[in-house]
Amino acid sequence: GAKKLVVGNWKLQGSRSANAELLQGLLAADLSASAPRADVAVCPPFVYLAEVVSALQGSAIAVGSQDVSAQGQGAFTGEVSAAMVRELGARYAIVGHSERRSYHGESDQLVADKAKAALSHGLVPIVCVGETLAERESGETEAVVGRQLQAVIDTLGADLARVVVAYEPVWAIGTGKTASPEQAQAVHAFLRARLTAAQADAARVPLLYGGSVKPDNAAELFAQSDIDGGLIGGASLKAADFAAIARAA
Ligand code: 13P
Repeated sequence: GAKKLVVGNWKLQGSRSANAELLQGLLAADLSASAPRADVAVCPPFVYLAEVVSALQGSAIAVGSQDVSAQGQGAFTGEVSAAMVRELGARYAIVGHSERRSYHGESDQLVADKAKAALSHGLVPIVCVGETLAERESGETEAVVGRQLQAVIDTLGADLARVVVAYEPVWAIGTGKTASPEQAQAVHAFLRARLTAAQADAARVPLLYGGSVKPDNAAELFAQSDIDGGLIGGASLKAADFAAIARAA
């Protein structure tokens, strides 16, 4: 099948020295040779983007931000624009991570606006969707991820096919409780159907799974027909683990 996409989300972790060590480990793993079926990217905190892009220059590892402003420019203290992120050499921007939705009150519409801002400045948005445990247990998984996706469908129009979508069940993030391959595949198939119904071209939008992906469960997740890669948190902070996940693609 097509190449998988394996993205590391470092979250609020790192330092200049820790990043240098991690990147050195990833470069030594020679992923373009050892993981030829994976495209790989890392998403450090904003303040490290320039240094990480520079350290990865000439390698096959791309860089993304963990968020981006929906605003272009102006009096928006603390925000970072898509143009700024793109100028530093990033390719991707994660938007709508569940930690942003829950701790920063980001709405479905704000997340969609962030995706639009990213696209309009040449970044590929990685749009995160996912249900909480309470929502899953009350049978609302499809309603929740469908609603989160719908805002993106309505806002992006003809550009829908240019995004990446990451399904990250909130109950699987940082908990060690991975969705089973069957649970993840079922939601991915639902997302694929919604995307395809909205726009035929969007059938090939890469669908990443995120939530406690580790070297020992990555291969069975990536083997599912609608799982096109992974969004990796904790395991992306260890070069050996992240490389092993890329090699599982
Ligand atoms: P973990 O891999 O640590 O569960 O985090 C997943 C995630 O939130 C990636 O964005």
